[in-house]
Amino acid sequence: MVKAAGTDHPLLVNCIVPLHMQGPLTYRWPFDTTLPERGTRLLLPLGHRRIVGICWGPAREFLDESRLKDVLKVMEEQPLIPGGLLNFIEWAASYYYYPLGPALSEALPAGFLSATRKATEQATDRGIGPGRSRFDVKAWSHGTVRKLTAEQENVLSEIAKAVTAGVFSPYLLFGITGSGKTEVYMRAVEHCLASGRNALVLVPEISMTGQIAGWFAGRFAQGLSLLHSGLTREQRRDQWWKIRSGESRIVVGARSAIFAPLQNIGLVIIDEEHDPSYKQADKFKYNARDLAVMRGRMEGATVVLGSGTPSVTSYFNALSGKYCLLEMKERAGDARLPSVEIVDRRVRSRKKRRDVKKDAGRSGARSDETPWLSSRLRHAISSTLEAGHQVLLFLNRRGFATYVFCQECGHVFKCRSCDVVLAWHRGNKALLRNVDTEKFKGPGVLCCHYCGQLYPALPACDKCSGQAVRASGFGTEKVANDFLQEFPGTTVARIDRDTVGHRKKMERILHSFRKGEIDCLIGTQMITKGHDFPNLALVGVIAPDMGLNVPEYCAAERTFQLMAQVAGRAGRSAVKGRVIIQTYMPDHYAMECATAHDYRRFYEIEIAKREALGYPPFSRLVNVRLSAAKKAAAEEAALKLADVAEKAAGNRKDIIILGPVQSPLARISSRYRYQLMIKGAMKPVRRLCSEIDRRVGSLVPSNVRVEIDVDPLNFM
Ligand code: ADP
Ligand code: ZN
Repeated sequence: MVKAAGTDHPLLVNCIVPLHMQGPLTYRWPFDTTLPERGTRLLLPLGHRRIVGICWGPAREFLDESRLKDVLKVMEEQPLIPGGLLNFIEWAASYYYYPLGPALSEALPAGFLSATRKATEQATDRGIGPGRSRFDVKAWSHGTVRKLTAEQENVLSEIAKAVTAGVFSPYLLFGITGSGKTEVYMRAVEHCLASGRNALVLVPEISMTGQIAGWFAGRFAQGLSLLHSGLTREQRRDQWWKIRSGESRIVVGARSAIFAPLQNIGLVIIDEEHDPSYKQADKFKYNARDLAVMRGRMEGATVVLGSGTPSVTSYFNALSGKYCLLEMKERAGDARLPSVEIVDRRVRSRKKRRDVKKDAGRSGARSDETPWLSSRLRHAISSTLEAGHQVLLFLNRRGFATYVFCQECGHVFKCRSCDVVLAWHRGNKALLRNVDTEKFKGPGVLCCHYCGQLYPALPACDKCSGQAVRASGFGTEKVANDFLQEFPGTTVARIDRDTVGHRKKMERILHSFRKGEIDCLIGTQMITKGHDFPNLALVGVIAPDMGLNVPEYCAAERTFQLMAQVAGRAGRSAVKGRVIIQTYMPDHYAMECATAHDYRRFYEIEIAKREALGYPPFSRLVNVRLSAAKKAAAEEAALKLADVAEKAAGNRKDIIILGPVQSPLARISSRYRYQLMIKGAMKPVRRLCSEIDRRVGSLVPSNVRVEIDVDPLNFM
């Protein structure tokens, strides 16, 4: 047995294990060899089971070695995880206050680290080598290598210079929708490969299936790996090894591709950098956009954040010199920006009220009215279809009706496990597939959009047994339904989480829309980004107001971006584009600036508000969220942590502790939720969070879950 240097003690090794605990576990090293390198996987005993952890190096403290267990086996000769990636994940875990073991386990393909018996057996028996299942992305033919526009030339030469210099340089590429950013990305990647280094390209989750991946596949047949949520486990593992071995030199992928084992990175591109899907919503709540900048720094790479509607924070960073700003202000080719019109829905409500009065007595006079369709949009759709062009309708809410209530007793149908009203999905095939037809006889189902629980759509009230149950509000399903009635003989497709369960289906729909086989595409935010439809002439934004009426500091930013992005789908070829936004808040600056295609003005109004209220980028936010099955337990723990925070903050002026309060969604999946928001300058906020993180273990009982969300985007 090897002894620890200069002592008579056996060598002890620290191991990172995929369990929620702080710090490594220490084991005895029973072999005659020296310790393997950091990053090598080890088979370890834990209680009565065996787990797979990672060698982190010799233990410095001498514990009572007789109580320690022996490492069972070294899983591979070479360290699995390259050193650079290991340091990067370690940094990310500490920045987001997430334990290192689970962070590593989530950053690696499933089964590489394991804490359960089954997973460990699989990892040890079958190994984690390259899978046999390869997969190919359909090359979205983009054979024509066009002459670059002057703006593209300028931007590209800047980026190329930085790539050649080979030192960390962050850029914000503000190029309006349709300005041809993808072409710039591809040329920059070509340049990076030619200079002998590798490239990492991140795209938002949804458009992964869209054209960017297809264009890259068309241009770079060799050495390209695509990573997204549509891959099977086996395919993911296979891609991982292709990258690890150096066979793949370009990685295009969604959020989690930020942890790809790519080495010698010269260029990191984040397309649509403003997109909130870069932020992981649960468990390891990292933001891949922010991490990309850090990975680029660690690798000495050029980082390009690209967007037609940059996040307020990134634009602020560009104006303040933290990033270098590159701009493309014109659309490429023949394309022109679409005209954007606002339909003021308030007029309609006043008129309607008058009409309703007039019509009183004449029963059913307006019963055939389609609530989401203004007459301007109706006419625009008709003339667009007559001209042989296509329509896209955007509504960020799925389902048929938003809520269901009893007209006799006023009872609103709610989820039993969540404090949330149920939406009615009338004929949804994807949802209905999970339904037990014996139990669910009614038309469609009621669905909780938070926990996914389904309930029968009863004809009667479950409280008073009244028979006058009514559904109210509309979602994409109703819009699609009404569209066919309003415009008979047309073809409609819907893209939302109900209809596109998997990548292939979505790809098929987008493909036939692109080819002109569908007249109207209706969808949620899934359709807003990254797609290019040459024959699309009209975009209707149906009810953007609901995005403004949420208690989140970035609500206006998010709504502006969605509108600008969805509007950006129109007029991307020689076909002239028209966008109609229906709103009850026509004077809101997000609406006005989206209409005028005026990002700069939006930014100036928004940044002034942020400064006045001390929101990011003028401060850091951290949301400490607690949840428990018992309300009192969650509340008590929240008060304790708030106390820790207050004491740690002392009477500092540069830090604000908000709460603890019940979360706006007070109960989800049978757990009561509380939150504590910390706001202030970077350093004191981090000091305070470290203190909370350190004290959680001793102060909070294990039946209360505590999650620290750094730079949160979700406040519900
Ligand atoms: P963005 O990502 O900036 O919104 P895209 O990269 O999707 O824009 O490009 C928009 C359209 O412009 C695409 O149809 C693309 O083929 C076309 N395009 C790009 N570069 C050029 C160019 N230099 N000349 C003509 N058309 C171009
Ligand atoms: Zn629920």
